[in-house]
Amino acid sequence: MRLYIGEVKKEVGRTLQDTVSEIFHPLMWEGEKVLFAQPVKVEMTLTNCGSEILVLGRLSTVLLLSCSRCLEPFLHPLKVEFRLELRNVDRLHRPSDVEAEAEETDEIRYFCENDTYIDVTQDIEELILVNLPMKPLCRPDCLGICPRCGTNLDQGKCSCEEDNLDPRLAVLKTWKAL
Ligand SMILES: [Zn+2]
Ligand SMILES: [Zn+2]
Repeated sequence: MRLYIGEVKKEVGRTLQDTVSEIFHPLMWEGEKVLFAQPVKVEMTLTNCGSEILVLGRLSTVLLLSCSRCLEPFLHPLKVEFRLELRNVDRLHRPSDVEAEAEETDEIRYFCENDTYIDVTQDIEELILVNLPMKPLCRPDCLGICPRCGTNLDQGKCSCEEDNLDPRLAVLKTWKAL
């Protein structure tokens, strides 16, 4: 994904609204594939602040994740607001400036005086990954799969359920059957 900065960088104080939409390749996250069910849409405002261009954006897309309990794929809409600083490397005079500023925050990307586009694919991918749910669930009360027979308990009961009874309660079960 590339941001056009040719217009906004012409003059300090200039502001530009832009919307970019792009289909992303699947991402890998903790050994799982994260698929995109919709293009990644980024609405943003770029502001020329002199030696940097400030990008305030809103990212939205729909991901296809696997439920951590029942393992079924489900759609997960994602909306993230972000702030990204694009620094003009030719206007940072001392090399130590670059290092000092790089330590401040991760959300910084550098460009050169002659650049008209900046590739932010990596920044957007990182943004998506850090905003993924720790334990993706198809619904908050997903019952998951039976550890014995693998039946998806969200789609119906399995017959193992009774056998999973606490042995101490098994006595009670015999008693009830009489
Ligand atoms: Zn589930
Ligand atoms: Zn079962």
